[in-house]
Amino acid sequence: MSTLVQQSCAPRGLRGLAVLVTGAASGIGRATAERCWQDGATVAALDLDLRSLGETMQRLEALDAGRYIALEADVADPIQVRSALADLARSLDALYGVVNVAGIGGYTGDVAETTLEQWGRSLAVNLSGAFHVCREALALLRAGGRGRIVNVSSQYGLLGGAGSPAYCAAKAGMIGLTKAMAVDHADEGILVNCVCPGPIDTAMLAASGRSGERSKRESRRTATRLLLGRPGRPDDVAGVIAFLLGPDARNMTGAVVAVDGGWSAS
Ligand code: NAP
Repeated sequence: MSTLVQQSCAPRGLRGLAVLVTGAASGIGRATAERCWQDGATVAALDLDLRSLGETMQRLEALDAGRYIALEADVADPIQVRSALADLARSLDALYGVVNVAGIGGYTGDVAETTLEQWGRSLAVNLSGAFHVCREALALLRAGGRGRIVNVSSQYGLLGGAGSPAYCAAKAGMIGLTKAMAVDHADEGILVNCVCPGPIDTAMLAASGRSGERSKRESRRTATRLLLGRPGRPDDVAGVIAFLLGPDARNMTGAVVAVDGGWSAS
C-alpha cells in the first residue's frame, strides 16, 4: 500500500478546507499538493497547462477525485490568473490556503549580461505571479473568514547568488510581499508567511547544474554550504508549508522560514 493511500485513511489538520497550490505539476509544488491532500484538504492545483498536471492528477484523482481541482494558468499573466480563480470560485464557496510555489530558475549572468526579457520574465513569474494569485484569491479567502498564505521564496531571497540578479531580486521581493501582506491582512485572520528553500532535489535544481560553467561553479559553492550535507527533498519543504498552513502556526505571520539544510547559516 502506498504512503498516500495509508495516510488517506487519517486526514489531519486541513480536513474540510480548500488549498490552492501553484506550480503543482512538479517538485515542491507537487509535494505540497500531495501533502495538503494527505492532511485532508481539497486541493486546487494550478500549473501552466493541464497536461503537465497529469501525474499529480493521476496520483490524487485515482484516490478521491472529489478533493482535487486542476487549474491552468500562467501566473505571470493576470488575465489567465483571474480566469482560473473565477473557475475555482464556481467550484468552491471559500478558500482556506494559498501556496505560491510556481517559479522559474536559471542563471542569466551578471546585470550587464542579463537581457531585459530574462529580467522581465523572472520578475513576472517569481514575484508578480504571487501578487496576481493573491489578488484574485483574496475574495475567496475572505469568504472563509480566515486563511493562510505561504509564499515560496529561496535562499537567494536572503543572500546573493552568482549569475542570478533577476532571480535574487524577485525572491527578495517575495519576502517583502509576504511582510506587507502580513501587515495588511492580520486583522482579517489571514496569516501570510514565507519559506526559503535551499537546494532541493527537483527538476529546477538539476537544470541549474547543467547551464554552463558559472552555474556549475555556483552549484559547487552551494554544495559546500549545506550543513546537513545533501540537498533537501521536495517533501521536506512541503512539510514546513503544511505546518504553516496548520493549527500550530496560528501565532505566526510575516515569518520567513529557511528550509535550507543550514545553507544560510554557514
Ligand atoms: P520545478 O520542479 O521546476 O517546479 C516548478 C513548477 O512551477 C513547474 O511545474 C512549472 O511548470 C511551474 N511553473 C513555472 N512557471 C510557471 C508559470 N508562469 N505559471 C504557472 N506555473 C509555472 O521547481 P521546484 O524546484 O519545485 O521550485 C518550486 C519553487 O521553489 C520555485 O518558486 C523555486 O524558485 C523555489 N525554490 C526551489 C529551489 C530548488 O533548489 N529546487 C530552491 C529555492 C527555491 P513547467 O515545468 O511546465 O515549467
